[in-house]
Amino acid sequence: MIHAFAARALWPAFLVGGLVGTHFAFQSSTPLLWFNVVYLCVVALIALAERLMPYENDWLQPDGETFNNVAHTLLSKGAVQLFAAIGASLPMGIASVLQPLTAPHVGLWPDHAPLALQVVLGLVIAEFGLYAAHRIAHENLFLWRFHALHHSVSRLWVVNAGRFHFIDSGFKIALSQIPLYLLGAPLSVFLWIGAVTAFVGLLTHCNIAVKTGVLDYIFSTPRLHRWHHSKIIAEGNTNYGENLVLWDQIFGTYFNPPRDPSTDIGITGRVSPHFLGQLIQPFSRKGARQILGKAPKPASSPAVEQPAVAIDEAAPSP
Ligand SMILES: [Zn+2]
Ligand SMILES: [Zn+2]
Repeated sequence: MIHAFAARALWPAFLVGGLVGTHFAFQSSTPLLWFNVVYLCVVALIALAERLMPYENDWLQPDGETFNNVAHTLLSKGAVQLFAAIGASLPMGIASVLQPLTAPHVGLWPDHAPLALQVVLGLVIAEFGLYAAHRIAHENLFLWRFHALHHSVSRLWVVNAGRFHFIDSGFKIALSQIPLYLLGAPLSVFLWIGAVTAFVGLLTHCNIAVKTGVLDYIFSTPRLHRWHHSKIIAEGNTNYGENLVLWDQIFGTYFNPPRDPSTDIGITGRVSPHFLGQLIQPFSRKGARQILGKAPKPASSPAVEQPAVAIDEAAPSP
């Protein structure tokens, strides 16, 4: 009884709890500090719930990647901070260059509407960039070599929510934030989108046996994201949404069959077991071939560029 209630209540409770905490953090004199405190509390509570009611028992076992996951999270968060700092001046820079061309558009942002409505609008717009960046990262071999790091784990849990190569993170941030800059969205909208993305991201990777029901049609839930991590390409190249699944629904990549998602996750290629190795591996030809699961080229093979890949080949696993 309690288990069934918790299964239904935990996902919305963690999200709403995190956002209420964020509201108080943003009203304090040190918003960033208190936001991080709220974030770490939610991480700790999700980790506890994973122990009490796991979706997959095998995913509780250590995989030797915890340090790497935390290190990538910190580096990606650093990149976010950097982009936010650039963002403070970027709108002015862009506006001064593009003003004559975009003048009718800059200022389109409805900054007199209630903040909650602005955040929902911002989420829908940012989500289009997140969707596009994520889908391209799966369908383009050059970008897959960076995104594969995220998919190279064999267990899903709260600590691999931030496991992204910094190039992958930067590409996603650029595509999701630039439209908002061009539309003139205020900083508060960026901060709230960051908060929603942080908590939804923790939850999509959690190993808790939650039941999200109708929420699966709106949000990127653990159930949908487990399909996304499947080793089977037809299952993995779906559900690209980061917070919302609106664009998956529109572009036909929404996937939610009436059975439990596979727990056989991962990639067919090989990713370095070390943090620094994971950072530099995609930049070398040999490293990229390991990630893509291709045999090393024989030393005698002619140094001829590979022809453009067919679309089937360009859709890596998953
Ligand atoms: Zn992915
Ligand atoms: Zn993921």
